Amino acid sequence: MSLLLRARPELVALKPYASARRSGYTARIRLDANELPWDETEDARSDALNRYPEPQPELLRERLAALYRVSTERLWIGRGSDEAIDLLLRAFCRAGRDNVLALAPSFGMYRIGATVHDARFRALALDADHDFSLDPTALLALVDDDTKLVFLCSPNNPSGTLFHQHIDALASALAGRALLVVDEAYIEFADAPSACGLIEHHANLAVLRTLSKAHGLAGARIGSLIGREEIVDLVARIAPPYPLPAPSVRAALRALEPAALVRTGERIALLVGERERLRAALAHLPAVRSAWPSAGNFLLLRFADARRAFERLLAHDILVRDFSTQPGLENCLRISIGTPAQNEAVIAALSGACP
Ligand SMILES: *Cc1c(COP(=O)(O)O)cnc(C)c1O
Repeated sequence: MSLLLRARPELVALKPYASARRSGYTARIRLDANELPWDETEDARSDALNRYPEPQPELLRERLAALYRVSTERLWIGRGSDEAIDLLLRAFCRAGRDNVLALAPSFGMYRIGATVHDARFRALALDADHDFSLDPTALLALVDDDTKLVFLCSPNNPSGTLFHQHIDALASALAGRALLVVDEAYIEFADAPSACGLIEHHANLAVLRTLSKAHGLAGARIGSLIGREEIVDLVARIAPPYPLPAPSVRAALRALEPAALVRTGERIALLVGERERLRAALAHLPAVRSAWPSAGNFLLLRFADARRAFERLLAHDILVRDFSTQPGLENCLRISIGTPAQNEAVIAALSGACP
């Protein structure tokens, strides 16, 4: 069954805005988009910034599709995964009526995006005492006729938990009812294949990938939505006409050149090694109660006194993320993996901390 039957019918029927860049015509003298005719960009190698950018630059689409091993028709590029999350909510959820499902704790933008759009938000609480493991039956028990999206962040931010072993069964259980959105912002740091390979088997599976984390391009805002053509097309038609700034597209293309990808691979290997080293070093400090395993480039830690640990780190000029006010995450801090020297500084700062 086509999952478009679960999308907002008025959007499926919508005739999208026809931007000048989509007319299909090109000419030397372009007087079609109310742009200024002078390119004031100083650097000859850079883009002509007086012109609107390509809505979905073909070369970038090809490079990203090759990186993620999917066909270009199944990939839409937006301003980070954050924009894809927002557009999926708008594409599927009738405001004031439909609901979406996620885990708690998990990435905060699912709840915020849902609230902004007035979609109902439901979360399955994960238990820190059970290593944040997921019971798929309990998750499915929260699904009803108005559930349109199920967000599965894997590896999960902030717990670091990998849920990929559940994706196939969850997508099957949700077939024809809800879109399973797997947020793979940190998959490069995990020892698991991407869920992109499962899209072949599931019409209701979408995967979010980003250049913000492993590829070090958070400032460029380039993320991808990967899914069946009908879902990608629906998101593309409700997206703003020119979502991708030309300088960001150039930065992304540079990051996807072979030499840059080799460097990225080396950095991922280094960070994964550092993650395990940092976890081992912190786990047996008296101030640390739990150091959960992580498949991301961060660690979630429970301290005897998180406020004290936070301030101790700050006194050493190190800023981490305090999650201790979130339900179930009392006394928890999330520490991103830095350079070996930065991680040493974390260990040194916390080694001095009294429990
Ligand atoms: C950082 C993060 C994102 C945001 O990615 P962008 O592509 O920068 O928008 C999405 N999901 C999760 C789980 C993240 O941690």
